[in-house]
Amino acid sequence: MVIGVIGGGASGMAAALAAAENPDVSVILMERQARVGRKLQATGNGRCNLSNIHATDRGYNGERPEFAMPAIAAFDPEQTIRWFADLGLYTVTEPSGKVYPYSDQANSVVDVLRLNLCKPNIALKLGFEAEKIQKNDAGFVVSGNGETVTCEKLIIACGGLAGSKLGGSMSGYKLLAKLGHKSTRLRPSLVQIKTDWPAIAALKGVRANCHIEILRDGSLFGASTGELQLTEQGISGPVVFEISRDVCYGPGEWTARMDFLPDWEIARLEQELNRRRGTDLPMEELLTGILHNRLGRVLTKAAGVTGKAFVRELSNREAGDICGAVKSLEISLTEPMGMDSAQVTAGGVLTEQFDANTMESRLVPGLYACGEVLDIDGDCGGYNLQWAWSSGRCAGLHAGGVGL
Ligand SMILES: Cc1cc2nc3c(=O)[nH]c(=O)nc-3n(C[C@H](O)[C@H](O)[C@H](O)COP(=O)(O)OP(=O)(O)OC[C@H]3O[C@@H](n4cnc5c(N)ncnc54)[C@H](O)[C@@H]3O)c2cc1C
Repeated sequence: MVIGVIGGGASGMAAALAAAENPDVSVILMERQARVGRKLQATGNGRCNLSNIHATDRGYNGERPEFAMPAIAAFDPEQTIRWFADLGLYTVTEPSGKVYPYSDQANSVVDVLRLNLCKPNIALKLGFEAEKIQKNDAGFVVSGNGETVTCEKLIIACGGLAGSKLGGSMSGYKLLAKLGHKSTRLRPSLVQIKTDWPAIAALKGVRANCHIEILRDGSLFGASTGELQLTEQGISGPVVFEISRDVCYGPGEWTARMDFLPDWEIARLEQELNRRRGTDLPMEELLTGILHNRLGRVLTKAAGVTGKAFVRELSNREAGDICGAVKSLEISLTEPMGMDSAQVTAGGVLTEQFDANTMESRLVPGLYACGEVLDIDGDCGGYNLQWAWSSGRCAGLHAGGVGL
């Protein structure tokens, strides 16, 4: 039996390796780029956060997040770690639950998968973009680049629209739509959020520990604590990614309230500023040693305190305003960055049209889908790759009839 897999990303490689466990199966893995795992190589800032040990019963979103659970339960983070070890990749699990390659290099993950794909029953078709799929009695005919691939079963692992420079595209949604599958609204997730706060440009590149609350018309929409990264246009970093899903979608005033000293009670900060007011410290050094220098200066200005040469010149009210800016700065949010900058696509192909236990289409027998193309997106921290491995393996095992 020949099984075609369209997409040589995380889920497609997992699917191909799983299907090829049946020695009577021949797998043809089609990838439109010159090499497999291009996006994978850029994940986790080049470190590849390949799983999260907490990705067992939570961390997934979509119209039906429960769709993810059977595949995750059948191939959970522990099994994934063992699978990678069998493939030759050693991993470390951080106290937070995030799993990384021991080498700390995303390249290692891609290399190990690529090396394992070198099997007599797996053929790689690189630089092949699937443009059309025809279903016939014998299976499927996939055409693209003036060539055709014929297979009895077909797995769509084309990924989502996010990260378009790394291969994200509409391709999978379009191919599945032609076969009758519908998609939900697609939007960027795990993405930077833009602000119109004028001071933001001065903070480009600053990182800070922060507790952030996103408010919609003054009501709490989401909250998180962790690393904030400030960019030329907005707020980014893990703390933002964790709560970025659906921020700025829908009407209302969106604001971010940030506490740059979440581990300090405000009284401790007040006490420290009062102590500094008794010294000869120049004003621009007020928050030196507590916060990033540039952040300290911008927050002082944001509190409306200007034109003072020395900290000792601060009034009680001004010191209080600075504490307020440090502990609860509010800035307005305008929109998320586009799909280009997003790590994952929220939305995708309707999961009700697929069997959660096998990833097989309920509309077209012999057709499977896995990974980001489906309407499942994970939280920040390795959940998306875990979904790619679990759903890919599920599709591959069932298409290949492995151990069934
Ligand atoms: C910058 C960045 C960092 C990320 N970091 C993390 C992280 O640390 N941890 C985490 O869990 N997740 C992370 N993600 C998300 C994660 O990478 C994706 O969710 C995951 O790769 C999805 O796997 P997939 O197989 O569905 O799609 P992909 O990995 O995108 O693979 C799809 C493949 O299909 C190919 N393709 C598409 N259409 C066709 C076609 N018509 N014919 C042939 N080939 C086609 C594409 O070229 C691509 O190689 C990150 C994403 C980005 C963009």
